[in-house]
Amino acid sequence: MYWNSELETIDRKSLQELQLARLNRALEAASRTSYYKKFFEDAGVDVSKVKTLEHLQDLPFTVKNDLRLSYPDGMVAVPKRDIVRMHASSGTTGKSTVIYYTRHDLDEWAGIVARGIVATGTTADDVFQNMMGYGLFTGGLGLHYGAEKVGCFVIPASSGNTLKQIQFFQDFGTTVIHITPSYSLHLVEVIREQGIDPHSLTLKKAYLGAEPYSEATRDRIQDLYGIQAYNSYGLSEMNGPGVAFECIHKNGMHLWEDFYIAEIIDPVTGKQLPDGEEGELVLTHINREAMPVIRYRTRDLTRFIPGPCPCGRTHRRIERIKGRTDDMMILGGVNVFPSQIETVLMNTPEVGNNYQLILERVSNLDKLHIRVELNSSMFHGDLKELDALRKKIGEQLRALITINPRIELLEPGSLPPSMGKAQRVIDNRKI
Ligand code: ADP
Ligand code: ZN
Repeated sequence: MYWNSELETIDRKSLQELQLARLNRALEAASRTSYYKKFFEDAGVDVSKVKTLEHLQDLPFTVKNDLRLSYPDGMVAVPKRDIVRMHASSGTTGKSTVIYYTRHDLDEWAGIVARGIVATGTTADDVFQNMMGYGLFTGGLGLHYGAEKVGCFVIPASSGNTLKQIQFFQDFGTTVIHITPSYSLHLVEVIREQGIDPHSLTLKKAYLGAEPYSEATRDRIQDLYGIQAYNSYGLSEMNGPGVAFECIHKNGMHLWEDFYIAEIIDPVTGKQLPDGEEGELVLTHINREAMPVIRYRTRDLTRFIPGPCPCGRTHRRIERIKGRTDDMMILGGVNVFPSQIETVLMNTPEVGNNYQLILERVSNLDKLHIRVELNSSMFHGDLKELDALRKKIGEQLRALITINPRIELLEPGSLPPSMGKAQRVIDNRKI
């Protein structure tokens, strides 16, 4: 089932023609903005010379700091009266940045979100509870309008207020939720504490996104709730959620290439990598009037999954995001991403649903300290068993990622629960 079968199954050649036409339009719009005008001049590039998609590589990258420098409206390409909404990034890694939308932009955005929703088999018969924060964050309103377009019954629950969320599940028969993976892991514990079996609820699906998480975490969430979980990717610079979404095959996320030109680059050299290799995702928004963003370095690490998808959509799929380039930790000379540690933890049944990674510097060496909650059925204080478990996790981490962290096992509920994007890594090295 498609939302827009013509565009979702467009042949690659026509897609590339469409991309080029839209790219030229976006570049022209960008050149009208005060920020990009100077940006391109300083880089000595003439965007009118971009005649093929390959020429895009001659243009400089836009980075998060450019969005900050252009604050508040240096990248706006339309008269102010045509702008109907703004959002701002959540500022996970510093000062937030502002994004603008015209009515066309909002409508088109809702359209690609609807594509993703429909690709997972959701219909107007579904009750969609949106548990992402509403407001400046794009996760709330972004999915909201897409789900309304599909015709779902939409509950704009926002995040937090956990008991009320559970009440809504029961009162309105919620079938689909949109939630961060970390919040879903907290929520399921609260559901159980209420004496409710999560499997007895009407829930069928979850859309999980806004933060990196491992395949093992997806599996765990699916088992705990007895639902299907789909990966959803986006970032405010590129509208927000909806940039890429999994279909029912759950094998990578279709990135809507009629909206975004995607490149995978080597984060160090900035050069494009051959298809299928892992690197940093770079996106050019080619379907936003209010604010074109050219070759934006997302800092998110992924790769294109080669080959066609059985669903028939022709838009390429990206693999689950491994993390941001700046999430990488170097431990004893080994490069480690939190998602790799998470895989080991979430594959250990005795481990609970919450953990924290603490980085410390001890006599000039980086040390990792993992604080992890136990599964409540495990926690009965048998010291021998706990010791054995600590050893088992330690061995796995050594075998799989050759690191040797200190592991602390905690009582369930001891770590602060996440209601939105979880803060997994606490870096004490900079103090
Ligand atoms: P901020 O950059 O301040 O966190 P956003 O709210 O725009 O602002 O967050 C977008 C970022 O969230 C992405 O660049 C990516 O790092 C992360 N993200 C979003 N969806 C996913 C996902 N499905 N998997 C992994 N990371 C994700
Ligand atoms: Zn597919």
